[in-house]
Amino acid sequence: MEKAEQDLIDKTPNQLYIGGKWRGASSGATLKVEDPSTGEVLGEVADATPEDAVAALDAAVEVQREWAHHPPRERGEILRRAFELMNERIEELALLLTLEMGKPLKESQAEVTYGSEFLRWFSEEAVRISGRYSTAPTGQGRLLTMKQPVGPCLLITPWNFPIAMGTRKIGPAIAAGCTMVMKPAQLTPFSMLALAGILEEAGLPPGVFNVVTSSSSGPIMGPLIEDRRSRKLSFTGSTEVGQKLMAQASENLLRLSMELGGNAPFLVFEDADLEAAVKGAMIAKMRNIGESCVAANRFHVHESVADDFTERLGEAMGALTVGRGTKEGVDVGPLIDDKQRSIVSDLVDDAVGRGAKAIVGGGRVEGPGYFYEPTVLAQVPEDAQCLRKEIFGPVAPVIGFAEEEEAIRWANDSEFGLVAYVYTRDFDRALRVVEGLETGMVGLNQGLVSNPAAPFGGVKHSGFGREGGAEGIEEYLANKYVAVAT
Ligand code: NAD
Repeated sequence: MEKAEQDLIDKTPNQLYIGGKWRGASSGATLKVEDPSTGEVLGEVADATPEDAVAALDAAVEVQREWAHHPPRERGEILRRAFELMNERIEELALLLTLEMGKPLKESQAEVTYGSEFLRWFSEEAVRISGRYSTAPTGQGRLLTMKQPVGPCLLITPWNFPIAMGTRKIGPAIAAGCTMVMKPAQLTPFSMLALAGILEEAGLPPGVFNVVTSSSSGPIMGPLIEDRRSRKLSFTGSTEVGQKLMAQASENLLRLSMELGGNAPFLVFEDADLEAAVKGAMIAKMRNIGESCVAANRFHVHESVADDFTERLGEAMGALTVGRGTKEGVDVGPLIDDKQRSIVSDLVDDAVGRGAKAIVGGGRVEGPGYFYEPTVLAQVPEDAQCLRKEIFGPVAPVIGFAEEEEAIRWANDSEFGLVAYVYTRDFDRALRVVEGLETGMVGLNQGLVSNPAAPFGGVKHSGFGREGGAEGIEEYLANKYVAVAT
């Protein structure tokens, strides 16, 4: 590790943030954080115990009432200041993201920008929370509805976008007047701790936002999910863990938001602009090294253009530079750990074993770190596992189709339903296909859907609830109806 990198890690908070104070775990334990591009230890953070987590909830509960009454304008201004601070510190935050997660610096900067925009968006929404007043249909009595914060929230985030997956929850929770306990992924805790420092600096009162980092997620979050003082759980992560948490949360009837796994189809019709489709495919596939819930997982291309598309995609993928994300000119960083690399490698081996051709890549990159080659698989057979499972890596399987109906059927043939991408220049077809897709989002002639001003989220096993847009704040508000006698 270079000196500047070590200095940054050394000055980043590494303790629990509870009730506005930084402190170590009550057991004194720490957990090690690794650089996935070298396998070396970057540093250590506090490893919270269940008692520490309860202390974090205590702090959130203590200030909930007061925070709910904090003027919305001031809640918005705190968010706005935090947005500005994130952008002032964009280089440091980006380097931190790259060090602990692996993505190239330019992508880390893009994540800081994207993540900070949720704070700006919800700083604007904080003052737009309103209700309704109407006359009852009989003419007697008035109906008043108001929106109030749901109360203390439990937030759990994954490692792939350590900042943005946090701000999508923190922004609306602060704007709505909720207090929080945040548990970031154990593999990438530094960025969230840095963000806690920024929120503190921006003037967020103690106790509103609390962070517990831990190597034992289940044991520390279980008691909070069961605690009658918790009101909501917002989770981003795998479908498997989401299902477990949902079952656990049912005991306590917590409000839930579940942003889960994906298996996005990328459909290219014969009338598509192929150059634009390849450009969109590169973004949809390779953003975040393929480790994104909205990553294009499988490419269904009309048979008349499949060879042409595959060849062009192969050229673009083959031209990418793989390396440590801190290095100039690197396009593709390492995968998060060896386990993730093995999952990707097994899926490629399975497809090739069933007859697919790796026209580019197809193997691990030797040396330290968890690198895998950008890979394009052509003539992928229907029974290949990579068409069914979330790949979460730089691998693009291409399969042909003959009819529009077949493409839609293929697209929907998954338990997931987060996003789909559609490339066509035929407007009628675009509407037909978009309406037929069983997903929460669609990229139409566009390889990127994420936008803080839009409702992000899925259907089916990709979960429910929406983050961003006007919808995002509703997840943190409860309706209260008042029957008024007249
Ligand atoms: P994961 O489910 O393994 O972990 C997510 C978080 O849950 C982590 O903080 C982890 O520590 C915590 N966790 C795990 N078990 C827990 C338990 N028993 N109790 C409480 N917390 C627990 O997911 P991951 O590997 O970190 O992230 C990758 C997954 O996230 C992929 O499936 C991806 O599609 C999904 N994801 C979805 C979205 C979305 O918005 N839909 C966005 C990003 C990532």
